[in-house]
Amino acid sequence: MPAAGSSPAVHKNLMPKTGLFCNRTLNMRGVRAIGYDMDYTLVHYHMRVWEERAYAYIKERLVAEGWPVSALHFDPEQVMRGLIIDTQLGNVIKADRFGYVKYASHGTNVLALDEKKRVYKQTIVDLNDSRWAFLNTLFSISEAGIYMQLVDLLDAGSISDVPGYAALYRRVRRTLDEAHMEGQLKSEIIADPEAFVDLDPETAMALLDQKKAGKRILLITNSEWKFASAMLTYALDPFLPSKMTWRDLFDISIVGAQKPAFFSSRTPAFEVVSEDGLLREHVGLLETGKVYVGANAGLVEASLNVAGEDILYVGDHLFADVNVSKSILRWRTALVIRELEDEIRAVREFSEDEATLSEKMIVKEDLEREYSRLRLQLLRVTARYGDDSDMTQVELERQLGQVRSQVVAIDEEISPLAQRAGELLNQHWGLLMRTGKDKSLFARQVERYADIYMSRVSAFLHETPFVYLRSHRGSLPHDTRDAVHVLQSDEVR
Ligand code: IMP
Ligand code: MG
Repeated sequence: MPAAGSSPAVHKNLMPKTGLFCNRTLNMRGVRAIGYDMDYTLVHYHMRVWEERAYAYIKERLVAEGWPVSALHFDPEQVMRGLIIDTQLGNVIKADRFGYVKYASHGTNVLALDEKKRVYKQTIVDLNDSRWAFLNTLFSISEAGIYMQLVDLLDAGSISDVPGYAALYRRVRRTLDEAHMEGQLKSEIIADPEAFVDLDPETAMALLDQKKAGKRILLITNSEWKFASAMLTYALDPFLPSKMTWRDLFDISIVGAQKPAFFSSRTPAFEVVSEDGLLREHVGLLETGKVYVGANAGLVEASLNVAGEDILYVGDHLFADVNVSKSILRWRTALVIRELEDEIRAVREFSEDEATLSEKMIVKEDLEREYSRLRLQLLRVTARYGDDSDMTQVELERQLGQVRSQVVAIDEEISPLAQRAGELLNQHWGLLMRTGKDKSLFARQVERYADIYMSRVSAFLHETPFVYLRSHRGSLPHDTRDAVHVLQSDEVR
């Protein structure tokens, strides 16, 4: 935290790591209740360690079923959140904000540009179609990684008990579900939280500030009681004032919430009445200080006498946490994207090269414009119409050749820079929020469903519970240098 009286400039330097980034204006003073997801929201894990274990569990189960997978290895760089599995073709793809496929890999083999174009030229990704499986959270990394490797084996004829890519995907999902739901993986984590949990000492204070500022604080997690209790005790209790525990922090805690169904169902609530998780059916409104299993969002709203815009829900799962809570209930939404810290760092480190790249692109665009102009003049001269050129055909052809060579030369300078720009954050897939120069489909989803986003919950600490977050002015295509240029030349006339 910046020391009292520190300059705004110093505070600004903290922003990329800890800032709250605003898509849709949100006055935190108007928020009466804040609900928190747990996994990868309040409690962050060392993704590589957790996913490596999840991957190992999937592999173990497949080995037990006789699949030839023992030589496979987990590669955390192979995929990233925001990619999409094409379960029909056995591909992993990255799409731009319009849903056009920009990069694709069949199994672990990257598709060359012309092949990618051939396969996807008629396709716009519609995430409502079950063909596509969006990698919504960091829990998706092991799933997509092993799926790509299994596609290779399926193509090689080494797997015979699934009929195709979609069935293969269903098998991977089922196996991962089992790994998450059965006790062994979670028990390992409970036994050694230090190895799995990436602590943030500031999270507890951020929530305490909000509570003291008069907001109702809720826990709404899909994790079951035993796991949630162990994780929150480890991640929050040491950073709370003495004698206070996470149980005192939350007005109401809901575990085993079954999101996304939680936001639309009428699932009854069961109260957790003992430390070992004994349940008692609960009738009526939810009571302060208690822990429940199940329940539903309607019951939360009725119990707190709040609705819609009064509640801010903070989670890391793009679909189950923010898309559904906004679409169905119009809750205000915040998305936690931890990768943002590396993304911002990578973009910053590349900023000088990015400036050079932009300058060269401007030169290239001007050259291309000049080329088109000369080509049209040549067309008019040779086709003998609208003859306003004072140059001969020979002269025009000479100039065209000259400009063409200049374009080739600048392309040679641009190409290595563009390639490096495409490898920022992830060497195979590039940045999370961008597809080339454009926004990625992930970024578009964030923009649509998350009113605000941040890399970690403790961003709230630095911005206070009273902050008024205003949406960015943004930019539109006509804000560019060309539009300014057109306006200026209009003024001259
Ligand atoms: P939350 O993010 O706090 O709502 O909790 C996420 C819970 O869902 C954790 O207990 C995860 O183990 C579990 N989970 C994550 N991915 C999967 C999956 O693919 N199948 C089943 N459970 C999952
Ligand atoms: Mg989560």
